Amino acid sequence: MANSWGNLLQNEQQLEELAQQAVDRALAEGVLLRTSQEPSSSDVVCYAPFTLFPSLVPSDLLEQAYAVQMDFNLLVDAVSQNAAFLEQTLSRNCSVSSSSTIKRDDFTARLFDIHKQVLKEGIAQTVFLGLNRSDYMFQRNADGSPALKQIEINTISASFGGLASRTPAVHRHVLSVLSKTKEAAKILSNNPSKGLALGIAKAWELYGSANALVLLIAQEKERNIFDQRAIENELLTRNIHVIRRTFEDVSEKGSLAQDRKLFVDGQEIAVVYFRDGYVPSQYSQQNWEARLLLERSCAVKCPDIATQLAGTKKVQQELSRVGVLEVLLPGQPEAVARLRATFAGLYSLDMGEEGDQAITEALAAPSRFVLKPQREGGGNNLYGEEMVQALEQLKDSEERASYILMEKIEPEPFGNCLLRPRSPVRVVQCISELGIFGVYVRQGKTLVMNKHVGHLLRTKAIEHADGGVAAGVAVLDNPYPV
Ligand code: ADP
Ligand code: MG
Repeated sequence: MANSWGNLLQNEQQLEELAQQAVDRALAEGVLLRTSQEPSSSDVVCYAPFTLFPSLVPSDLLEQAYAVQMDFNLLVDAVSQNAAFLEQTLSRNCSVSSSSTIKRDDFTARLFDIHKQVLKEGIAQTVFLGLNRSDYMFQRNADGSPALKQIEINTISASFGGLASRTPAVHRHVLSVLSKTKEAAKILSNNPSKGLALGIAKAWELYGSANALVLLIAQEKERNIFDQRAIENELLTRNIHVIRRTFEDVSEKGSLAQDRKLFVDGQEIAVVYFRDGYVPSQYSQQNWEARLLLERSCAVKCPDIATQLAGTKKVQQELSRVGVLEVLLPGQPEAVARLRATFAGLYSLDMGEEGDQAITEALAAPSRFVLKPQREGGGNNLYGEEMVQALEQLKDSEERASYILMEKIEPEPFGNCLLRPRSPVRVVQCISELGIFGVYVRQGKTLVMNKHVGHLLRTKAIEHADGGVAAGVAVLDNPYPV
């Protein structure tokens, strides 16, 4: 596995030197983050953590992940348009005594309220834009072979498409230093941010107002600014201008015209691209009001509220039920088969026999499951002893319906070095998570764009059960196809 690269090195000193060269190349390529000390300023920046070596990924699984991405785009788009499915899934059995995700989860409930309000008023936007990233791990089968299993799909603020285009040069550099020129050439070129920008550009064009802008909903403190700038820069080459504003800015300076056109600072907005608004802590009352204003407008939201809801873990679990994909994607048995092949075991914890059964199984074999609340951004899932305690506490309470249970994916670990500022350089046992970026644009009922636009490999040490790059657990990587 990846530690076979390590065998090319004679000693510790060579490893340290190689790591220094890699870090300097990463800085030169723009593999950057703002610092945690000064997350609002680019005066002093640091490199985004990354692996010293590219990690081996079976090329058939990489191809499979690419091949199923257009199906996932279609599926997310179908779910977002199916108000009945969303309602049924998120507020199953709406009677007072019953449990459901939205009754037990305030955050999902508030998103759902906005969704209902917009539906009632009539959806003003006619162009829809999806920028998502479907994430996978490589499950080790009983016979030792790996299988592609989806972890989740991110339908809002899917990140690292910008930095992922900068890391191939770094790994090519590392392999070139080791005189592995042929191997260096095998590192795939990758430019997700360009593809994401093309999607935004298409939506902007279909909106059809030459002077309208793209509004990027930004966080005040944003370490991952360079990732976002990559998309902004691509748009600017197409003469599409982006303004960055917070929810607070929108609430102070945003307004709707009679025809529900959105204006911010007096400028018309064609596309709203959210890089904020996916976790509860990002919403004050003022921010919820700003979100509602944006949703009511005819600007293209990426994502609109229904598409954000389509990315919840509860929806993911319901999609895995027998027969559901067939209803959402009628007449597309091949797409359904490709999608289903990537599903891991997913279990509802709704009150009732099925949920009771799932809890019994998880308590009997905790190492085989993950407990997930309706949250994004890493660090929310529960494993092992913590999961057992939570299940014991939740099992007789209706609150359990706001969680889902998932089969735990167990990839084969391999050795690699995780390079982080101020951390020692050493080989540790790792696992990877592969993400594929998808873009689609729909005008009315017509899909005008549906494609995959690149990948992201993230790698973390095996001792960390949860968390991505932004959470400080995983680091950027590149697949080395084998
Ligand atoms: P989030 O929305 O917080 O990113 P995820 O479902 O992606 O939620 O879970 C966060 C992390 O937890 C993943 O990046 C992965 O490392 C780990 N994880 C999630 N689901 C599983 C699973 N079924 N098996 C193994 N690890 C998992
Ligand atoms: Mg995730």
